[in-house]
Amino acid sequence: MDARDAGTDLESVLLTEEQVQTRLREMAAEIDAFYAGSEVLLVGVLKGAVMVMADLARALTVPVTMDWMAVSSYGSGTKSSGVVRILKDLDTDLSGKHVLIVEDIIDSGLTLSWLSANLGSRGPASVRIATLLRKPTAAKVEVEVSWVGFDIGEQFVVGYGLDYDEKYRNLRDIGILAPHMYG
Ligand code: 5GP
Ligand code: MG
Ligand code: MG
Repeated sequence: MDARDAGTDLESVLLTEEQVQTRLREMAAEIDAFYAGSEVLLVGVLKGAVMVMADLARALTVPVTMDWMAVSSYGSGTKSSGVVRILKDLDTDLSGKHVLIVEDIIDSGLTLSWLSANLGSRGPASVRIATLLRKPTAAKVEVEVSWVGFDIGEQFVVGYGLDYDEKYRNLRDIGILAPHMYG
């Protein structure tokens, strides 16, 4: 779906499909250069990172493998619970691997700082983070992010994998949800 199909559910479009794709190609070029000569294990965080993973992975030229984790830090609302739980773990042994965590958005950073410490304890050669979006709150947390697509404001965004109550993940653009939607 695109923003027009979402009707009045969106207050505005924050980033168009084209802006997202252009930025992902730039990030991929930087990531390629950084890992030149190595193989990289991309770890996608379900479900939000599905679109970022699909497009970033295809823009890369270094050899990659992909695996997925599901963790819960949010319920169906818009606020962090601060609790991280593994719902689905990796199938891959991380020993000696260069791990790149692929995320849709960093808000409080709680999920990612917990996740990178958790993966770091499994004997990888390195653990780094790439995220498409980062909110201002993330600056307050001790989590080092190697690649950021866009620094955005505090509004709750949907689309391109990001949901509100599991909806709008298939929106091509990234939009700001209209306040009346919070119900
Ligand atoms: P953190 O632990 O960094 O606060 O939480 C990150 C997770 O919160 C993201 O992976 C995402 O699931 C959710 N999240 C944070 N901000 C937003 C937002 O603006 N829109 C949506 N749809 N999810 C968000
Ligand atoms: Mg996520
Ligand atoms: Mg969500």
